[in-house]
Amino acid sequence: MESEIKKRFDNYIREKGLRKTAQRDVILEAAFSSDDHFTAEELWMKARKIDPKTSRATVYRTITLLLECGMLREIDLGRDERVYDPNFIESPDHNHLICIDCGKVVEFEDENAAVLIDCITRRLGFRPTSKSMRIEACCDKLRSSGMCENLIELRLGKK
Ligand SMILES: [Zn+2]
Ligand SMILES: [Zn+2]
Repeated sequence: MESEIKKRFDNYIREKGLRKTAQRDVILEAAFSSDDHFTAEELWMKARKIDPKTSRATVYRTITLLLECGMLREIDLGRDERVYDPNFIESPDHNHLICIDCGKVVEFEDENAAVLIDCITRRLGFRPTSKSMRIEACCDKLRSSGMCENLIELRLGKK
């Protein structure tokens, strides 16, 4: 995890008048050590791998703090559960393509798409504050070869 992330969170904690705790640091590490999106339960699992004593309530409270300070964003993957995305710090305008067949999520950035969204928003008389789009798509691999390793993983419950 980059120290910038830790610094930013520490500043926010201080502004809020909260104490720095080792538990929150563990959760921060679990959240930002990879690009993976996660649910609260998944984050709890990751955090417990670093420190088995991490409490579930602290995970939920820390997620709220991270959302408040804009370090984490909730994204809509069309699932029933809340999914959080740690990648908006590095790429604030990134987009998601979601495969409706196998559930794979592909993150991408595109300058032209960002400019286009910007133009449309301004033409409608607004200023964009975040430019993220979501594309739902069919799995090409599944259609052409009849199977997709992602779907197999999904069915095995690994994802
Ligand atoms: Zn993302
Ligand atoms: Zn697929």
